[in-house]
Amino acid sequence: MSASLLEKPIEYLKGVGPNRGTLLRNELGIDTCKDLLYHFPNRYVDRTRFHNISELPKVQADVQLIGKITDIRLINQSKGKRLIANFQDATGEIELIWFRGHQWIQKQLQLNIDYIAFGKLTWYGSRCSIAHPELEEQTEDSTKKSAIFQPVYPSTEKLVNRSITNRTMRQIMQHLFLEMQLGVRETLSKNIRTAHDLIGATDALRLIHFPNNLNELEKAQKRLRFEELFFIQLQLLQKKLEHRKQFKGHLFVKVGDLFNTFYNDHMPFSLTKAQKRVIKEIRSDFGSGAQMNRLLQGDVGSGKTIVAFLSALIAFDNQMQTTIVAPTEILAQQHFHTLSEVAQPLGITIKLLTGSTKAAERKVIHSQLQSGELQLLVGTHAVLEPSVLFKNLGFAIIDEQHRFGVAQRAKLWKKNHIPPHILVMTATPIPRTLAMTLYGDLESSVIDELPPGRKPITTAQRTDRNRLAVNQFIKTEVAKGRQVYIVYPLIEESEKMDYKDLMDGFESISRDFPKPNYQISIVHGRMKSEDKAMEMQRFASGKTQIMVATTVIEVGVNIPNASVMIIESAERFGLSQLHQLRGRIGRGADKSYCILMTGNKLSNEAKTRINAMIQSQDGFKLAEIDLKLRGPGDLMGTQQSGILQMRIANLSRDAQVIQQVRTVATQLLADDPILVKEHNKPIADTIRILQSGKGIWKYIS
Ligand code: ADP
Ligand code: MG
Repeated sequence: MSASLLEKPIEYLKGVGPNRGTLLRNELGIDTCKDLLYHFPNRYVDRTRFHNISELPKVQADVQLIGKITDIRLINQSKGKRLIANFQDATGEIELIWFRGHQWIQKQLQLNIDYIAFGKLTWYGSRCSIAHPELEEQTEDSTKKSAIFQPVYPSTEKLVNRSITNRTMRQIMQHLFLEMQLGVRETLSKNIRTAHDLIGATDALRLIHFPNNLNELEKAQKRLRFEELFFIQLQLLQKKLEHRKQFKGHLFVKVGDLFNTFYNDHMPFSLTKAQKRVIKEIRSDFGSGAQMNRLLQGDVGSGKTIVAFLSALIAFDNQMQTTIVAPTEILAQQHFHTLSEVAQPLGITIKLLTGSTKAAERKVIHSQLQSGELQLLVGTHAVLEPSVLFKNLGFAIIDEQHRFGVAQRAKLWKKNHIPPHILVMTATPIPRTLAMTLYGDLESSVIDELPPGRKPITTAQRTDRNRLAVNQFIKTEVAKGRQVYIVYPLIEESEKMDYKDLMDGFESISRDFPKPNYQISIVHGRMKSEDKAMEMQRFASGKTQIMVATTVIEVGVNIPNASVMIIESAERFGLSQLHQLRGRIGRGADKSYCILMTGNKLSNEAKTRINAMIQSQDGFKLAEIDLKLRGPGDLMGTQQSGILQMRIANLSRDAQVIQQVRTVATQLLADDPILVKEHNKPIADTIRILQSGKGIWKYIS
């Protein structure tokens, strides 16, 4: 009975019916009884406590009172009618208010009997009220019944308006548990449950909806978080194992002349320990016979480019081609310049392919790629196009992965009959837990050390009142020969306004820093890419001292003499983005400064971001804070957030659990790679359901 009940459309459940069913489906995506079962409360209120009206907390809070209604009146207001009741206990009086359903409620309410009232307090100065309280006549029975941990379900305004209140949800849920006598199928093995002290699946589901106390709630949460995260990790690890079995990789047998010559004779500096370690990791992948799929994380300026280049040399030593793909034209150009310099003494052929490459040049590139004459192709998305064919692509590097989707990564695979080794580089440090989840099927390398001699950047917050002093500071630094970035926010939703701000800003900067003493560049997304490149070049070569720009300079731009960055309306940027921007300075020998210009009044969240920037320069630490502030979905952009929409686990809070389940899953697969052992049957069955797409975890890819 129970298994089939869970598959049934939600309408079938007692207390639901067609109208409510449609509402639940449209508003909450609850389609079947199973979906309902997994519609977890998002918080719980402690209804074991009662308040005296004279001692109510002076904040918005859920409170529970016992008292009598002494007066009821309907009041006409400009915004419509409202029903108000005076509610009194021995210590004081407050108002209960209804904005809807007046007739029905007025009929129900009785004067001078004892009620239990429950709801959220709202304060207006020294007066307070509760809107749409839950009211119940106080009897011995009702007092006892209310004395529990009560679930509060995520809901929508429409549901509440159509009188599917939280109480209704609780009742529907109670029906579900009454009818679901057999419980649900266990998904974890006995071994794992015992080893990690996890309660059974059915108990966990019952207690997540109806805990009697905090202890029961915590047990349920522990079990369900473990389960959710475990199956994500297990699937990722399975994918990784499968991948290794399935895809042969190019075997790079030698570390030959090019690598050795460059390493011994042409290295511009000595590598950091972290860089050496990563190169070793990549070399070992190259020699493994399997296709490499590796994520390289390293904070801005940690020196990922040289690691990519040295790795590419191994590919050339084995007669294979390499491509490096960047998300923006500016970045691709810059890679092209940097890499051309190091490639030249070795006689390596290198070309740049972007959206603005002329047809004639494009033709040359295509033919040289196919003949094998061209060894290293640097470019943007243009490289991914199907018309771009290689003779023998062995290695593909993607810079700034978070700008590329998985589908784009896959396009590179198809560029050779044996897929090339893939190195994905990112300077946006991803908190470990997030990396383990998003890129759990990739190997991972981290450069956790900056090249020696970097000076810390001084970061400060200023407002418009300090404008003159800030300008004076810019003049002093420019007089010392330094260069300055002034960055404006530009977001899609307010693009028009933002461009206006940028242009107004540019005008006033031009006034404050007049020619011929000061030369100013401007770069933004609406410019033609040749013009952008020319302006960047003018700034890079020192012809201009001030660069006014939008976030197009965020990614990867490297101009060591630029040591001052002013970020306008800094409160409008996300933390990771601020960190990325700041990474453009502090690259040379000079002391660098980052000034965050903000409004006077900031939200708490904005304050946290600004203070974090002032206090820390550690990208991983800032990423953790960002994850807490924004949640994983926002952090990574919607495109990748499907897997991050978790039911009960939370990537930032449950870091330890993720680590734990990853270990458990790894051990499980080491012992039973294709899950055939009898005691692992519940797990194998669950995986099968998940992968048939029928599971409750439909969102896992
Ligand atoms: P990112 O990791 O942000 O891509 P880059 O590869 O652009 O960083 O390197 C930043 C700067 O540091 C470059 O100018 C590069 O030449 C320099 N660099 C890289 N590694 C070292 C090192 N080991 N010692 C000194 N300078 C280095
Ligand atoms: Mg870089």
